Amino acid sequence: MPNKIKALFLDRDGTVIKEKPGVYLCDPKKVELYKNTKSAFKLFKKLGYTIFIVSNQSGIGRGYFTEKEVKKVHERLLSLLKPYEVKEIVFCPHAPSENCPCRKPAPAMGLKLIKKYNVDKDNSFVIGDKKSDTDFAKNLNMRSILVLTANGRAQQKKYSSDLKDIKICRDLLGAAKYIQREGLK
Ligand SMILES: [Mg+2]
Ligand SMILES: [Zn+2]
Repeated sequence: MPNKIKALFLDRDGTVIKEKPGVYLCDPKKVELYKNTKSAFKLFKKLGYTIFIVSNQSGIGRGYFTEKEVKKVHERLLSLLKPYEVKEIVFCPHAPSENCPCRKPAPAMGLKLIKKYNVDKDNSFVIGDKKSDTDFAKNLNMRSILVLTANGRAQQKKYSSDLKDIKICRDLLGAAKYIQREGLK
């Protein structure tokens, strides 16, 4: 058994790249990192985390775009993040009505990565801008951070009691700095 790795499961839209609520991204040219995303990735790398992006892409299941288009978006995203080595991007293509086991907060995408890469859950984190991300972490029995970019602030208000034990950071760089301070169990 190889050594366990510490990992980050990062949400894509509204966490790593900009999201306009209600707008489904399918054009690689419109992929835009937040201004602090690269600094955050730099720090994650320095701290020795393996980075995964874990994303709900229900636009496929809803018929707004194809899986092929999502993969083009991911090629672009990987090229923007090139020096920082994203290990894998996984996504759920289903619409909510399909009740699949992989749409966050359901845990399947995380379970698969944990098994495939021998992830040390206790020293790993989920980071995202929605309660579905922090619930995804709960379902995996992992720690999580809510970032206040995109949907974060509205989610914080809407679910204040559910989120009361969740660490909240301004953005992905804030989350990286928190992990630098508090990451090791
Ligand atoms: Mg998001
Ligand atoms: Zn799914």
